[in-house]
Amino acid sequence: MTEIEFGAGLWNFATYLDRYATDGYGEPRSTLAQIDLAARVGDIRWVDLNFPFTDGVTLDDVKAKLAETGIKAIGITPDIYLREHMKGAFTNPDPAKRASAMTRMNDAANVVRELGAKYVKIWPGQDGFDYPFQVDYKELNRLAVEGMRELASGHPDLKFVIEYKPREPRTHMYWGSAAKTILGIQQMGVDNVGVLLDFGHALFGGEAPAESAQLLIDHGLLWGMDVNDNYRGWDDDMMVGSIHMVEIFEYFHVLKKNGWEGVWNLDQFPFREDAVENARLSIRFLKAVHRALDLLDEDALAAAQAKQDALGAQKVVQEALLQSMAGQ
Ligand code: FE
Ligand code: FE
Repeated sequence: MTEIEFGAGLWNFATYLDRYATDGYGEPRSTLAQIDLAARVGDIRWVDLNFPFTDGVTLDDVKAKLAETGIKAIGITPDIYLREHMKGAFTNPDPAKRASAMTRMNDAANVVRELGAKYVKIWPGQDGFDYPFQVDYKELNRLAVEGMRELASGHPDLKFVIEYKPREPRTHMYWGSAAKTILGIQQMGVDNVGVLLDFGHALFGGEAPAESAQLLIDHGLLWGMDVNDNYRGWDDDMMVGSIHMVEIFEYFHVLKKNGWEGVWNLDQFPFREDAVENARLSIRFLKAVHRALDLLDEDALAAAQAKQDALGAQKVVQEALLQSMAGQ
């Protein structure tokens, strides 16, 4: 198997607020300080950057820092989920707010071009609804699909990925599942919009992430991924492999089986943990998964799957995974 390339959302190295610790879990860090921390991890070659950058940081500053650290931009994630867009970016009822979100996304597209990144990552966190009867679903669907079509059509030279998530901050996010996102992209009728599959979002949405990966690959739409872990009741964004070892192994097995090549990108929120150590341990685990893929007896697995033999398959999986873990 080829060498894996690791990446991380730059927010892995930020500090956070939540609705209780409203003074934050640490002093704010600039985009440049976040890139420095990513570089300290050692194995991270790519970062996904929030845009706009933190106060006072220019595009030239970011270019210089990336050049200094040898890290490349995989994607740019425009902040279209802050206070101004609390009722949505694409589906906001106020046309002026939809327009300001569009401007920010167009600006992010220009940064992708400038940095030579692979995609603009669209995470419309505030697009959706909270209460029954709050929205007209047909209108919400129209705004979501037409807005994304307009954005993507304006930049035919670039790729856009939608990162779906079932809920949080809205009780219902518009792009909430792999299948719904595929249907929306088909409705758009464009060829430069795909999906970023966040392993944790699929788990949290009650999906089998490996099955979602296969579905997206079969539709030619799996263009990026995030990995992390959670307890399935929430998007906890914990260290990879801390909870769902077998399912993450299955996920990467499906990617390997399909010859999917791309960056293994961390998306974790170490609220109380050391961000660098959190990333290092995650990558250590991912390397063990990578070795386990080579140890897996594919013929025995195929034979078990041909009979849908659950226990036979588990035996093959245990042999590879446990052996790989023991070899740490
Ligand atoms: Fe993510
Ligand atoms: Fe998430």
